[in-house]
Amino acid sequence: MTEAPHPYDPDDLPDPVREPWREPMRRALAEADRAAATGDVPVGAVVLGPDGALLATGHNEREATGDPTAHAEVLALRRAAAALGEWRLSGCTLVVTLEPCTMCAGALVQARVDRVVYGARDEKAGAAGSLWDVVRDRRLNHRPEVVAGVLEADCAAPLTAFFRDR
Ligand SMILES: [Zn+2]
Repeated sequence: MTEAPHPYDPDDLPDPVREPWREPMRRALAEADRAAATGDVPVGAVVLGPDGALLATGHNEREATGDPTAHAEVLALRRAAAALGEWRLSGCTLVVTLEPCTMCAGALVQARVDRVVYGARDEKAGAAGSLWDVVRDRRLNHRPEVVAGVLEADCAAPLTAFFRDR
């Protein structure tokens, strides 16, 4: 069966699983924009506390800082832990514009976040369902919930433009 072209933007359709995360994803997208100033890959992340309040933000700063681990998620997790005064981010949600890589997926598990929400899938290097599924590996005793594809097209667009212009 062939699928007819989608007449609607999927983000306009009712979607009770993803809808609550669109607003924080817009904040993560704004953060991704900030990476452009230093020629960094436009990825942005935010960490929400157990009450849903914004705890920390981060964007990719590898070029800006020369640090190979300066991915948006790692920076946001570090700042969230500093804000809370402890490394355990139980009850927190990390929202990121691109599917986490293996390093960031590992960091999310180490930080004990309850949930990871991401926008664009990374078929080449994603570690939250695409190439690997580090965050939901049954051998781990902490497995965050995963919500994928929130504002997916909006999150993919700056990445597509970035790599096209290189
Ligand atoms: Zn990463």
